[in-house]
Amino acid sequence: MLKVYICPVCGWMRTVSRRRDVECHQCGNSAMALTKLEYGKYAGMSGRERADYAESWLYIHKIPSVEE
Ligand SMILES: [Zn+2]
Repeated sequence: MLKVYICPVCGWMRTVSRRRDVECHQCGNSAMALTKLEYGKYAGMSGRERADYAESWLYIHKIPSVEE
């Protein structure tokens, strides 16, 4: 079963199966976080919805982001 991971640094998301260390291919962070998003749901989301999800996730987890 695929799982959805998010990078706590840049918000990039990816699906992963059976891997412990998930690396972000966008910023090189080697410790992506597991989201509670189900793969089936993620697969049905548009790019915009995924971006919104990533934004909310980062906000909820209070990761300092780059200043606007
Ligand atoms: Zn990243």
